[in-house]
Amino acid sequence: MARALITGITGQDGLYLSELLLSKGYEVFGLIRGQNNPKLDLVRETVPDVKLLTGDLTDLSSLLRAMEHSTPDEVYNLGAISFVAYSWENAMLTTDVTGKGVLNILEAVRLYSHDEPGRVRFYQASSSEMFGKVHEVPQRELTLLWPRSPYGVAKVFGHYMTINYRESYGMHASSGILFNHESPRRGPEFVTRKVSQAVSRIKLGIQDEIVMGNLDAKRDWGFAGDYVDAMWRMMQQDTADDYVVSTGVTHSIRDLLDVAFRTVGIDDWARYVKQDPRFMRPAEVEMLIGDSSKARRVLGWEPKVHFEELVTMMVENDLEEQRVQAGR
Ligand code: GDP
Repeated sequence: MARALITGITGQDGLYLSELLLSKGYEVFGLIRGQNNPKLDLVRETVPDVKLLTGDLTDLSSLLRAMEHSTPDEVYNLGAISFVAYSWENAMLTTDVTGKGVLNILEAVRLYSHDEPGRVRFYQASSSEMFGKVHEVPQRELTLLWPRSPYGVAKVFGHYMTINYRESYGMHASSGILFNHESPRRGPEFVTRKVSQAVSRIKLGIQDEIVMGNLDAKRDWGFAGDYVDAMWRMMQQDTADDYVVSTGVTHSIRDLLDVAFRTVGIDDWARYVKQDPRFMRPAEVEMLIGDSSKARRVLGWEPKVHFEELVTMMVENDLEEQRVQAGR
C-alpha cells in the first residue's frame, strides 16, 4: 500500500487530494497545525480515513517526526498562508510559512531519505500568483516570474528551492504551477466563494448587497477536484519536473458576477454590487491565463469542469447550505 503525507490537509486541495488518494488505495496522513485547530472536525467528517499528525511548516523537527511516523512514498506540500490580500498585512509570517516552510519540508524529506534521494517523491504547490505582472500571455513554465504580493514572492522562493533541491540532491521534487482553482470547499475570503455565498444569500433575502474590490481583474479559474489529479500524475512520472495547470480560458470578476447572479435568475446585478477601496490591493495581478499544454501532453491531464459549470456548482451548493442554516 502506497503512503502519502499531505500538509495543508484542512484546505480544499487537501480534502480533494485525500479523497483521490484514498480511492486509489493509499494510506493517507495529514499534517494538522496548532492547538485545537478549528478545522479538525471538518477533516474528520470529510475524510475519516485520513490519519492526522500534528506539526507545523515552521517547525522542522515536527516535520521530521511526521516523516518518521508516516514513512511516506509521496509528500504533497499544500500548506501555506494562501490569501493574497492578507499577505501584505502579515508579510513576515507569510514568508515564514509559505516561503521558508517549503525549505523546512524539503529538508525533512532530504534528511529522512538521504540514503536514497528520490525514494520519497515531493510535490510543491506553486502558484500562478508568481507570474504577477505578466511578462508573457499565456503564461507557461518558463515565463519570467514577477510576483506582485508578499504571497507571490514567498511562492517564488518555494518554487526555486524545490528546483534547487531537485538539482542539488537528485530529489524527485516536482512543482505544480496551479492557476486559481475553486470549489464549494473554497474559503469565503476568496472572490469566487465570496460571490457564490453572497448571491445565494441575496436570492434568499438574507443579504441586500455585496461589497467588492476590483471588478476588472481576470483569472483563469478551474475546479480544485480536477487539479489534484494533476498533482498525483506528476508524482507518477519517472522524472520530476514543473508543470503549469490551468484551463487556458480567462474571465473577469464581472463575468463571475454575471454567471453567479444568472444562476439565481438575476440578469441585472448592478444594484446589488457596491465597490469599496478596502477590497482593493496595493498591487494587483490584472490578468492570468495559463498554457497547460505540457501537463496535457506529458501527464495526459485535462480539466473537466469549465467556468460556467464551476460557478453554477458553487452557487447551488451555497443556496442549499444557506437554506439549511436559515432553517428554510
Ligand atoms: P487570488 O488570485 O489568489 O488573489 O484570488 P482571490 O479570489 O482572492 O482574488 C481574485 C481577484 O479578485 C483579485 O484580482 C482580486 O483583486 C479580485 N477581487 C475583487 N473583489 C474582491 C473581493 O471582494 N475579494 C477578493 N478576495 N478578491 C476580489
